[in-house]
Amino acid sequence: MMTGEEYRASLDDGRETFFEGKQVDDLPNHPILGITVESAAQGYDRFYEPGSDAVGAFMKVPGSAAELREQVELHETVDLLTHVTYASIMTLLTAADRIEAQLPDNARRIRDYVRDVQSRDLRITQCITDAKGDRSRPPGKQDDPDAYVRVVERRDDGVVIRGAKLHISAASMGHELMTIPTKSMKPGEDDYAVACMIPVNAPGVKIVNTTYAPRHEDKRDFPISGSHHTPEGFVIFDDVFVPNERLFLDGPPEFAAVFAHSLGLWERLGGLASMASSYDRLVGFAQLIAEANGLERTGHIKEKISEMMINATLIRASLEAAIDNCSITSDGAAFPNELYTNVGKYHGAANWSAMVRHLHDIAGGSILTAPGMADLENAKTGHLIRKYMGTMQEVDGVYRTRLFHAIRDMTADALGGWNAVTNIQAGGGLYAQRIVSRMHYDIDKAKRMALESAHMEEYLAEA
Ligand SMILES: Cc1cc2nc3c(=O)[nH]c(=O)nc-3n(C[C@H](O)[C@H](O)[C@H](O)COP(=O)(O)OP(=O)(O)OC[C@H]3O[C@@H](n4cnc5c(N)ncnc54)[C@H](O)[C@@H]3O)c2cc1C
Repeated sequence: MMTGEEYRASLDDGRETFFEGKQVDDLPNHPILGITVESAAQGYDRFYEPGSDAVGAFMKVPGSAAELREQVELHETVDLLTHVTYASIMTLLTAADRIEAQLPDNARRIRDYVRDVQSRDLRITQCITDAKGDRSRPPGKQDDPDAYVRVVERRDDGVVIRGAKLHISAASMGHELMTIPTKSMKPGEDDYAVACMIPVNAPGVKIVNTTYAPRHEDKRDFPISGSHHTPEGFVIFDDVFVPNERLFLDGPPEFAAVFAHSLGLWERLGGLASMASSYDRLVGFAQLIAEANGLERTGHIKEKISEMMINATLIRASLEAAIDNCSITSDGAAFPNELYTNVGKYHGAANWSAMVRHLHDIAGGSILTAPGMADLENAKTGHLIRKYMGTMQEVDGVYRTRLFHAIRDMTADALGGWNAVTNIQAGGGLYAQRIVSRMHYDIDKAKRMALESAHMEEYLAEA
């Protein structure tokens, strides 16, 4: 396994990565992107074990509901790059399982690759979302045929791919880009049914980074995002060669969706787990600021917090149900329940704005206007800000100001905007979660129950 130091050094591999118009040649020491490298390096040190066959505890494939729960809890404490590496490995193994019968050679390549990447302790990011061009048209009918990643040349030893994958979390900080189709493909779209692994430093790969990281000098005003952020990468494949052993699918199109569906499950479970924690944090901030404002016993405030608690508990209940109702595959791996995972993730995403609305309503305008930490230290203003930001004997102005900073950071500033959009879009968007929920809901049982309750049993066979 690699140490944090070895990981930092491994990023000096000729990768072409950009930020705000400039190429970044030294990622670990970059003032903004280096923060994420540092979190990932700490992840390496945390899981480091000596020995040539050591595999990080975060990589463990769960074999039961209890082990799945342990993994979910562990992943709540790791950096995003470590988490997406695990989700990618699980995706690849899930896909291998699903294509094994029809494409045994492809399944073998996947398993060989997983063993190799685990032994080299590399980090993987997930490249699924294509540029997509005109959303109403399929890949093969776009004005620009590169709107979806595709094979542009086939050689004896591999293929050349072209296209772009957008919004890829931590793409510049990993070593390998797991590149898979974003959707199902139709007959004739064989060139778009491509799944492969591409090293970040492969010739032709270019990554443009964006991030919500605050640029303000005093990071104390951004208590959450100031010390940790994950950039997204706009990943361009400008004619990239992929050798055969890294090619997991090159047509037939009917297998394209297997990869995206395999990923969706692990991605949404991660999303659901992190949402369950975020929902509890929103409830916590609502209660803390209500107490600091002296309103925790006021009727309408209590009602709003009760509603937030109910939402938070429903999200956690669906996470628990997804774990408890997991299924075990033929090779002994525990998979979260699809219905509970998707329904929970959907409900959390759809209600995030209602949770934030209650918090903003409860907290007041100082979410946006509380003076900075440096103002509290200024000899002329500090004691006056403390005086007027304080609300009672037990509620000191510094404490209340810091609460407002945390609420603004999480819900009303750059990270807040990122949270609002990401909760809805990440993991495929609300629409995708609705489709999967529909697919797994037992609609026949629901129809049967309706007919029985109406004493219309004679129509049961038709239902
Ligand atoms: C912060 C962040 C991190 C992300 N991380 C990753 C990552 O690591 N890897 C990755 O691959 N992706 C990632 N994503 C991408 C995410 O999965 C997509 O944003 C999401 O799938 C929506 O795709 P889109 O952004 O292209 O929007 P669009 O597909 O344009 O969707 C916009 C709206 O149009 C609707 N729509 C689109 N096409 C159709 C159609 N044909 N018919 C009807 N309605 C349609 C959608 O349902 C949606 O309501 C991330 C996104 C964000 C915001």
